[in-house]
Amino acid sequence: MKSYRKELWFETSKRRELINITRDVEDCLAESRIKEGMALVNAMHITSSIFINDDESGLHHDFEVWLEKLAPEKPYAQYKHNGFEDNADAHLKRTIMGREVVVAITQGKLDFGPWEQIFYGEFDGMRRKRVFNEFL
Ligand code: ZN
Repeated sequence: MKSYRKELWFETSKRRELINITRDVEDCLAESRIKEGMALVNAMHITSSIFINDDESGLHHDFEVWLEKLAPEKPYAQYKHNGFEDNADAHLKRTIMGREVVVAITQGKLDFGPWEQIFYGEFDGMRRKRVFNEFL
């Protein structure tokens, strides 16, 4: 089976950020020359996510507010995981928002539904982190 693997690196300037990586994944897919199959895109860190949704700034604000209600960053002492680290909220947010997406490849393109875009969700940023792409 033909396959193509590529890693992307991200370093956000803020602790939390949502980045549309659709173009990056499309560029990887073009390099792969795979025309029919599936794309797997996953975060390689346990405090960042890959998910598919709308590229709409109001919605992105809503995600931030919703995630902060479910797993507020502060106070840090509310979490048993914190102490050595301060990122318990980021682990929880990552779990809610997901680790990976799988997208069908049809005629060399990502076969999205209307408005679907791929996002990298960073919840404990300001350091270099990897996203894995595999096309089969
Ligand atoms: Zn941690």
